[in-house]
Amino acid sequence: MSEQPVAMITGAASGIGAATAVCFAERGIRVGIGTFPGDPHDPETTLRDVRDAGGEGVIVEVDVRSTESVDAFAETLISTWQRIDIAIANAGILRGSAFGAITDEQWHDLLNVDLHGVMRTARAALRHMAEGGSVTAISSIAGGVYGWQEHAHYATAKAGVLGLTRSLAVEYGPRGIRANAVIPGLIRTPQSTDAVNSLGPDGLDRAGGYIPWGRVGHPREVAEVIAFLSSPQASYVSGQAIVVDGALTTAMRD
Ligand code: NAD
Repeated sequence: MSEQPVAMITGAASGIGAATAVCFAERGIRVGIGTFPGDPHDPETTLRDVRDAGGEGVIVEVDVRSTESVDAFAETLISTWQRIDIAIANAGILRGSAFGAITDEQWHDLLNVDLHGVMRTARAALRHMAEGGSVTAISSIAGGVYGWQEHAHYATAKAGVLGLTRSLAVEYGPRGIRANAVIPGLIRTPQSTDAVNSLGPDGLDRAGGYIPWGRVGHPREVAEVIAFLSSPQASYVSGQAIVVDGALTTAMRD
């Protein structure tokens, strides 16, 4: 069995997940590129970028709403490379809805991806993970730091991710496995450029006016932190949540 680590990434055909796959490839980590067939992203783009970075990847269709699908993702990586060292529970959706109008179905559908999907991803990967392994889940400043009007289901899921990763850190610490979360601020990706459910391109441009760093973030700037948390350099970092937001949530508004 090769010593080269293997990472399982959900939602890796776009945005932060795709950037993370490339960061891993640059570090000699083989990547399972989880792609959701319901979305129009092209996972071949991620795979090409991984190969251009000198890395190795395999594209696997996965729907994090299904235990069978997520377990099959992990099994594919085991049969391909016989190991999983790193799990990145990144897949997520964002929907807007006034709280009073939200249906049980809308609430459940969002949590099924953004919270239960993280649980399924971590669970499937941890079954195969040995000492030195690491799980990182993607939360959000919505729920991870702030509340967000008309996005209570999203914020609830993203707050839940923090409880989950902290608990995994405690439960798996004695086995030498770490668990952390990353809390992105406003990052330019397909999710945030959706003008219906999120800020949209104009809203992101305007956000530069109140983010102390003067602009929204790039997916790569989140991916670098994920890569650090997944690395042996972070060997004593577990149960933490790192905010990557250009000081947005630190600033006092006047
Ligand atoms: P994105 O839309 O590019 O990425 C989300 C990915 O999840 C997509 O590739 C999508 O196909 C996948 N996905 C959706 N439903 C899925 C399902 N059922 N099964 C498997 N995969 C599924 O946007 P992004 O911003 O890169 O999002 C990545 C993560 O970062 C998400 O969890 C998101 O909530 C979080 N986040 C993003 C921002 C931001 O400003 N962009 C801020 C905070 C948190």
